[in-house]
Amino acid sequence: MNTKIIHIKYKLRQWYLVKRGYLAEDYEPIKCTKCKSTDLEEYDEDLLNGNLTLSFSVRCKHCKTPLNDWAYGSWYRA
Ligand SMILES: [Zn+2]
Repeated sequence: MNTKIIHIKYKLRQWYLVKRGYLAEDYEPIKCTKCKSTDLEEYDEDLLNGNLTLSFSVRCKHCKTPLNDWAYGSWYRA
C-alpha cells in the first residue's frame, strides 16, 4: 500500500473519532476508544527545568489504553 492511501485512512480515522466524540477538534482525547470511559489521566509528563511541560500522554484510567500524546503545543495522533 502506498503512503498516500495510508495517510487518507489515518485522516478518516481522526475524522471519525472527532465525529463520534472520542476526540476534540484539536484531537484532545475526550473518551476512551476501548471502554468509552471519560475518566482519563495524564502520564509520562516530560518537564523542562521542572515546570515547563514539553510533552505528556493521556490514557484511560480504567483500561489503561493510550489515547493520544501531546508535545510542543499540539496533539499527535488519533
Ligand atoms: Zn478505557
